[in-house]
Amino acid sequence: MNYISTRGSAPVLTFEDTMLSGLARDGGLYVPQAIPALSPDQIAAMEGQSYEQIAFIVMRPFIDDTINDADFRAIIDRAYSVFGHAARAPMVQLEQGHFLLELFHGPTLAFKDFAMQIIGQLFQHVLAKKGERVTIVGATSGDTGSAAVEAFRGLDNVDVFILYPHGRISEVQRRQMTTPQESNVHALALEGDFDDCQARLKDMFNDFDFRDGVRLAGVNSINWARVLAQVVYYFSSAVALGAPGRRVSFTVPTGNFGDIFAGYIAKRMGLPIDKLVVATNQNDILHRCLSGQGYHKGETIPSISPSMDIQISSNFERALFDAYDRDGNAVAQLMDELKAGGFEVSQGAMEVLMDHYASGRASEDQTSAQIKASLAETGELLCPHSAIGVHVADRHRQPGTPMITLATAHPAKFPDAVEAATGVRPPLPPRMADLYERSERLTRVPNDLEALKKHIMDHLQT
Ligand SMILES: *Cc1c(COP(=O)(O)O)cnc(C)c1O
Repeated sequence: MNYISTRGSAPVLTFEDTMLSGLARDGGLYVPQAIPALSPDQIAAMEGQSYEQIAFIVMRPFIDDTINDADFRAIIDRAYSVFGHAARAPMVQLEQGHFLLELFHGPTLAFKDFAMQIIGQLFQHVLAKKGERVTIVGATSGDTGSAAVEAFRGLDNVDVFILYPHGRISEVQRRQMTTPQESNVHALALEGDFDDCQARLKDMFNDFDFRDGVRLAGVNSINWARVLAQVVYYFSSAVALGAPGRRVSFTVPTGNFGDIFAGYIAKRMGLPIDKLVVATNQNDILHRCLSGQGYHKGETIPSISPSMDIQISSNFERALFDAYDRDGNAVAQLMDELKAGGFEVSQGAMEVLMDHYASGRASEDQTSAQIKASLAETGELLCPHSAIGVHVADRHRQPGTPMITLATAHPAKFPDAVEAATGVRPPLPPRMADLYERSERLTRVPNDLEALKKHIMDHLQT
């Protein structure tokens, strides 16, 4: 399988190189040259299979033969063995026709673990084979960083530096990044917001001397391997509800557009998905764009769903690439306009987007009200992100088509917001109950590219 850049002028890469490089050298994101399809029979045969077996069937066509079947099965098994639930991605029913897909049973209690655990194992395998080391630098609004630290801590061939916005993530998120004591992981608290973290990360990737010098690798949601790992639970959940014989819809609490884009890939592979509903918080650039108002960035306003406090939604570029008929020049031009504030989406591209996606938003008050209502009506304690999903999903349900809302984090990861809404403080699962007692290790860093580069070079293991 070959991968091409959304901006049309970076080298074509294999799966392994796509995974190791992250961002393309023309500033674009890598996407598969063609999307492999699964037949209705192949999809029907997933019924009754384990999550790991479904993961193998879905991901295998995207991965080169340089990783053989037996190794790839072992990678998948190791990745999910650390999960706290035998089904990996279990579903519960909220009401008639509405289901909640619980994606928070991994080691850091958010859906990011599904992809990051796979990536950790894949990096380990590929780097050991090549005899190489890399430096991973990631930007996080909270959950990516903790999942990355958990997936890479103590691995031999990787140094990991995570930039997070100082003071803008929850204590559980921070502690999951700052309490691991392995010397190859580094938590960096940046003076700025998440968009600043993401911008400095992009600057490092666009500084080719630095990028090549430290062998920079990215594990942000722009990394294709992460999107790929997330395609799996769209299949496992839809098949459990009767696909391919029955169409389903999904609502996805969205920030960087990685998770919902995985749903789009599932649909392109042949899964009968009716609507993919983008749910945003008050930082609603995607909802405004999908409502026909163009893509114009504003100020990021901190919310009780911090993992969705994003104005520039990186993976949306992948959706635009397909909506503009895979015209890399057109996408490159839009991204230039975005630097100056924003752009309008052409009518043709809007029609393609509306074919696949719908959208909605929840205000802070609506989010809290939903957490409270869901507890009263179903006994489910939702994290604020998942509550936004349920709120928006309720406005997009169609009779006869089951709606699956993705629960993206465990409520205990955001205990203050959940307690404020319900009076109930959700406890951490027993396997991580001592998190608040462990000692922390972090460095405050300025929002400055040169200072960051120096800090990273000074702290490499070799
Ligand atoms: C990352 C995250 C999101 C947003 O997912 P994207 O792939 O960035 O759209 C939503 N909820 C939680 C809890 C997250 O950690």
